[in-house]
Amino acid sequence: MNKLLPIWRAFNLHCPACGKGALYRRYLKPVAVCAACGEPLGEIRAEDGPAAWTILGLGPFLVPIAFMVSMSGAPIWLTLPLLLLGAFGIVLVALPRVKGVFIAVLWIMARP
Ligand SMILES: [Zn+2]
Repeated sequence: MNKLLPIWRAFNLHCPACGKGALYRRYLKPVAVCAACGEPLGEIRAEDGPAAWTILGLGPFLVPIAFMVSMSGAPIWLTLPLLLLGAFGIVLVALPRVKGVFIAVLWIMARP
């Protein structure tokens, strides 16, 4: 079986096994079992890995953007809130996807 397909499914917030059921029941809370195929996804513990990899993945992009914006001469009362909102938005969108990839990789490794 192609190992990238479960990772792609989980990146798109679907069950890595079937690609039909939802991966999360809330923002970052995985479902106990997939509603479509019954795969026990709640047993997979990603722990702090997704948060660390999100920071490591987005940091090299966010820091230069913040530096360039701060050097642009725009007023800080305008740039700081925009940078914070932009960074929070990107992190909030990326974190469930990175966690999905983690869950998929752990799911692949746990299979016989
Ligand atoms: Zn499933």
